[in-house]
Amino acid sequence: MSNPIITQIDFNQPGKQWGSLSVPYSHNLSGWAKLQIPVMTISHGEGPTVLMMAGNHGDEYPGQIAIMKLMRELEESQIHGRIIMLPILNVPASQAATRLSPLDGKNLNRCFPGNPEGTASEIIADYLTNVLFPMADVVIDLHTGGRGVYFYPCAHLHLVENPEQRKKMARAAMAYNTDFVFLYADVAGTGLLPVEAESQGKIVVTTEMGGGEVVSQPVHSLSQDGLKNVLIHFDVLEGEEQTRETLGLKPVRWIQALDQEDYLFAPESGLFESLVDIGTDVKSGQSLAAIHFPERPDRNPEIIESKSAGVVIAHRGPTLTEQGDILVCLAHDVPKNILETF
Ligand SMILES: [Zn+2]
Repeated sequence: MSNPIITQIDFNQPGKQWGSLSVPYSHNLSGWAKLQIPVMTISHGEGPTVLMMAGNHGDEYPGQIAIMKLMRELEESQIHGRIIMLPILNVPASQAATRLSPLDGKNLNRCFPGNPEGTASEIIADYLTNVLFPMADVVIDLHTGGRGVYFYPCAHLHLVENPEQRKKMARAAMAYNTDFVFLYADVAGTGLLPVEAESQGKIVVTTEMGGGEVVSQPVHSLSQDGLKNVLIHFDVLEGEEQTRETLGLKPVRWIQALDQEDYLFAPESGLFESLVDIGTDVKSGQSLAAIHFPERPDRNPEIIESKSAGVVIAHRGPTLTEQGDILVCLAHDVPKNILETF
């Protein structure tokens, strides 16, 4: 079956077009409803196609705002190639400030490659996999830690096998000009958007721009400036590419969390206390977090210790914690032999 999403956009037309992807679904007061996902395409001259997305998880807003700003700002004459922009992939989740879609309870970032006959999230995933990814050279998917996790703002990527693809992805991640670039592992399931795009050979650029309910001005600025600089890096947008050096910043630090033990989960339910701030270096055996027991104030808190030396790249957002929730992500400097492949 072909994908049921329809759009008034003609992706092969030059110029700037505004529209939406219409996803069929039903709710109790509308049997024939159409979920509208905003989309804009801007195309001019020869050059690569960049597919740019945010709101894969609804409660991750800096990328959504960054893309909406760019949608209004960019003019056809500045473009060499094509940019397809989807600022809010998971509209119902963005409206509800949730990670999962309220329509089907699914995590869109676990629905790939998708299913054209499935739920709304699965239909969207299938459309990306089979319609939009094949058009793209570069796939940008902007995240934050959402309400659940508080990240030191960074660009991040998987260590893909193909040496050319890896080099291009690493250099694009560096164009974000974040303090850290983070190599991550998939510790919680399969079906991720970047994995599908990587398997199609795309240059995939992703971020974790902070997290929590509060988005500070520096995080918004970093999200917006980095996104624009990545477009300049690919020569799809006119302008002078900035590097950390031209910005007067110290060199990027490459870090990785590739082992299960780099991801520390709550052994019991309780109240989470962070004992080390994000971006801080820690020793092996250092106390990173405490779980307090409000029903047993006489009981000492459970202390979560690092199993190795490293840098805390993220910790839990909410204080209220259930057994099995992610508490801390501990990263380590990327070895020289890997850095040489970038
Ligand atoms: Zn996310």
